[in-house]
Amino acid sequence: MRLRNFCAGPAAIPEQVLEEVKSELLEWGDSGLSIMEMSHRSTIFDKVAMEAKQDFIDLLDIPNEYDVLFLQGGATHQFSMVPMNFATHQDSADYLLTGAWSKKAISEGSKYTNINIVASSEAENFSNVPDFESWNLNPNAKYFHYAPNETIQGVAIHQPPDLNAPIIADMSSVILSGPIDVTKFSLIYAGAQKNIGPAGLTIVIINRDMLKKENPTNSNILRYSQHSKNNSMLNTPPTFAWYIAGKVFKWLRSEGGLETIKKKNDIKAKTLYKYIDESDFFSNPVSLENRSIMNVPFILADSNLDNLFLEQAEQHGLLNLKGHRSLGGMRASIYNAMPIEGVNDLINFMKEFEKENG
Ligand code: PMP
Repeated sequence: MRLRNFCAGPAAIPEQVLEEVKSELLEWGDSGLSIMEMSHRSTIFDKVAMEAKQDFIDLLDIPNEYDVLFLQGGATHQFSMVPMNFATHQDSADYLLTGAWSKKAISEGSKYTNINIVASSEAENFSNVPDFESWNLNPNAKYFHYAPNETIQGVAIHQPPDLNAPIIADMSSVILSGPIDVTKFSLIYAGAQKNIGPAGLTIVIINRDMLKKENPTNSNILRYSQHSKNNSMLNTPPTFAWYIAGKVFKWLRSEGGLETIKKKNDIKAKTLYKYIDESDFFSNPVSLENRSIMNVPFILADSNLDNLFLEQAEQHGLLNLKGHRSLGGMRASIYNAMPIEGVNDLINFMKEFEKENG
């Protein structure tokens, strides 16, 4: 029996996708092979891969000036690959510090270039995003990096800033949750294991201009242009994850595309925040305008009840609600594959728990 999975990642995958994968697992079409046993250079896999890429492009309405790469290494790999390609030790890059993931990006980036932290909300426990007017931007920055959705703190920047520098965004936990204006960005990266599919795949959307700006002395595996030139088959890509991602993209299209998904996500998040805000027992510390629609952290009035809450939640079929180890408390990740019914189940359980323990 499949339960409600609120994991921040690897996260829930639409059941319909898993059913399809199951039915095709032993043999793809009439090929006599499983898709995961096929050469990535075979005609069959190439078709599956390129169809997935095109569906992703269509979903996000990505213009021709951009390429989409299917890579490995996770978002963490991008923390290094970005600075090692677009800045040197003589240069500087602007980074916005809004939570644990942008902090990691800064820490890795500082090994390759001089990082200017334009603004930070660390002193307020990352419960907000500093006002744009207060940002200390460097006019010579090679690029500006930020995380539009901080998965751990549940802090979001819903609109990209308007800047002169190329904008690079870690969209791991927010990609495909709604439409985005890709033209505002020079590079977007995202680990797959939230809204795209299984772990092991990392998607990069890159403006082709950036391919000309990269550092040519890096190994080919670390160069976006080489991946682009080889259609993401410079070496063996994560074929099975790519195939499943393609199915998730088809599912998103069948659900009505990203406008529809966004409406559903907004309703899910609003419903959960409304309950939390009205309750005297649960609370969320993030400023209203910066609340994530994907990751909803919340704390109990009495942290001594945390373990009991988690235990009873599990008994109700509500899994993986424990907050990140760095933060404590709870976190409900409500990505695309979590239906509103799952959010309602969670709220009903929280109400019951509050009544008994509040
Ligand atoms: N950035 C963000 C916003 C994330 O949520 C995560 C993973 N939770 C990462 C980076 C790191 O991703 P990975 O484990 O794929 O390297």
